[in-house]
Amino acid sequence: MNSEKLSTRLAAVASFVEQGATLADIGSDHAYLPCCLVKAGTISKAIAGEVVKGPYESAVRNVRKKGLSDEITVRLANGLEAVHPSDGVDTISIAGMGGPLIATILNDGIEKLENVKRIITQPNIHALSIREWAVQNGWQIIDEQILKEDHKIYEIIVLEKGQAEYNELEMMVGPYLLDRKSDIFIEKWKREVDEWKRVLDSLENAGNTEAIDDKKEQLRNKIELVGGILSN
Ligand code: SAM
Repeated sequence: MNSEKLSTRLAAVASFVEQGATLADIGSDHAYLPCCLVKAGTISKAIAGEVVKGPYESAVRNVRKKGLSDEITVRLANGLEAVHPSDGVDTISIAGMGGPLIATILNDGIEKLENVKRIITQPNIHALSIREWAVQNGWQIIDEQILKEDHKIYEIIVLEKGQAEYNELEMMVGPYLLDRKSDIFIEKWKREVDEWKRVLDSLENAGNTEAIDDKKEQLRNKIELVGGILSN
């Protein structure tokens, strides 16, 4: 992958950045996403935030190599600390991390979101954490995407401010993804249900403590809830 040609996953994240946005890409590693969006003319200004020195230095090098130092500011910073009020950031992308970490980054920097219009997240796992964070903090899901790259399945959740209610199933699998029920969506949840059934089977012989019984009950509920959408 390079900043002229993004991976399928990052290209899908990029497709949700609106023309003329001022972007902060948090956890930017090589700054591929902002570099590509500036080169494509989608945006003219971005912040690339990275908390780890190695990836931060890769981002600095890449931005310099592309001649984009005037357009892209790379900052060594934890989460939304990379965003300064004078930047005028209206769009945030956080991709390639677990859902709980993305939710923590959003929560820890919640005051930085006041003037932000759109948040684009791509959790590698536990997308539910992002949907929960959104509902609890006055953001609604405006779109979602599911895609497969190198045998891995990724979800993208796009948020804008607003109140919305989602039922338990929508929170778990995503309201837009549920509505569309793509082949990749079915594949993902078949895999999950199979894994829950495997764990449930292994717990059948693990004794009967309260904790084990609770876990079994949770698994049975999830299998019933999600299994129901796979059969019709
Ligand atoms: N966003 C790129 C992508 O999707 O390809 C890079 C993903 S990489 C797997 C995750 C990056 O997030 C790493 O470079 C890591 O150092 C960075 N990261 C993790 N926690 C962070 C935080 N709290 N603030 C900023 N960056 C963070």
